[in-house]
Amino acid sequence: MNTPRFTVIAPIFNELENIPELYQRMRDVMVRTGEPWELILVDDGSTDGSAALIRTLAENDPRVRPVIFARNFGHQIAVTAGMDYSRGDAVIIIDADLQDPPEVILELIAKWREGYEVVYAVREERQGESWFKRTTASLFYRLISRITDVNIPLDTGDFRLMDKKVVEVMGQMREKHRFLRGMSAWVGFKQVGVHYKRQPRFAGETKYPLKKMIRLALNAVTSFSYLPLQLATYLGFIASGLSVLAIPVVVILRLTTGTILLGQATTLIIVLFLGGVQLISLGIIGEYIGRIYDETKNRPLYIVAEAPEDHDTDEG
Ligand code: UDP
Ligand code: MG
Repeated sequence: MNTPRFTVIAPIFNELENIPELYQRMRDVMVRTGEPWELILVDDGSTDGSAALIRTLAENDPRVRPVIFARNFGHQIAVTAGMDYSRGDAVIIIDADLQDPPEVILELIAKWREGYEVVYAVREERQGESWFKRTTASLFYRLISRITDVNIPLDTGDFRLMDKKVVEVMGQMREKHRFLRGMSAWVGFKQVGVHYKRQPRFAGETKYPLKKMIRLALNAVTSFSYLPLQLATYLGFIASGLSVLAIPVVVILRLTTGTILLGQATTLIIVLFLGGVQLISLGIIGEYIGRIYDETKNRPLYIVAEAPEDHDTDEG
């Protein structure tokens, strides 16, 4: 088999009902490029039999290359593994639930052929998602772009095309807590956005419950900003500033009007306020220290139970 020109990566966590449709639509789209391609399906520890289905697909079509994880490592890590195994000159990342229409890939490829090295897909509309999801997502993208030093495009998920050069650079960035869309903005190169309408899921339910969304948001913030750490300093200054202001007020009240501020409630409020500020600050420092700890452990990013090589159908 000649080396593929395009690699499509789809991370899969319990997407049994979506895989056949994904494969068919992807094949129809990729055939239209007129060049060789491969589809890397990364099974992120599915428990619904997705891995078996991926194996069957790979047996019938050598362009499908399975990467089967030993357990669930999370979406961003699954995509990273796909990138590590990719062989194409351009690599496309897409969700397996068909919320990102495969047809848009042709537009991404067209921009790549014009010379852009990162072509990201911007959601101009999101269908079939709850009000809560849309609002929190929108707030999240705006917050990230405000507080980070990297120019991360708004309303942009992981659906994108990256040139091999970009994939190689990102492959050298082995940080454990990964926020790929930030990393792919950070590397630079010529970048451009393509607008599309995000569709409802083809089948099944979101694999991103609130907990995972919060984790992703925390990774995004801590990977690209020190602002939370600085926030602790600001809060400290505000609290001390307020107390410095309060001292003369109490003294003047006592001297001029003879008022004595009754102690208990005031003291309690101040102690609680300061205690709160200190605990929040400690928590923020803890978030960063935990991440430093994870980096120093130097564990592999993921553990592969079956690599594409185990499945190569080529003779010899
Ligand atoms: N996914 C994954 N591992 C996880 C969670 C999700 O590989 O732990 C995959 C999932 O199968 C899908 C993609 O990541 O292909 C995006 O997930 P999902 O559609 O559930 O997220 P949403 O679109 O709701 O934000
Ligand atoms: Mg989805």
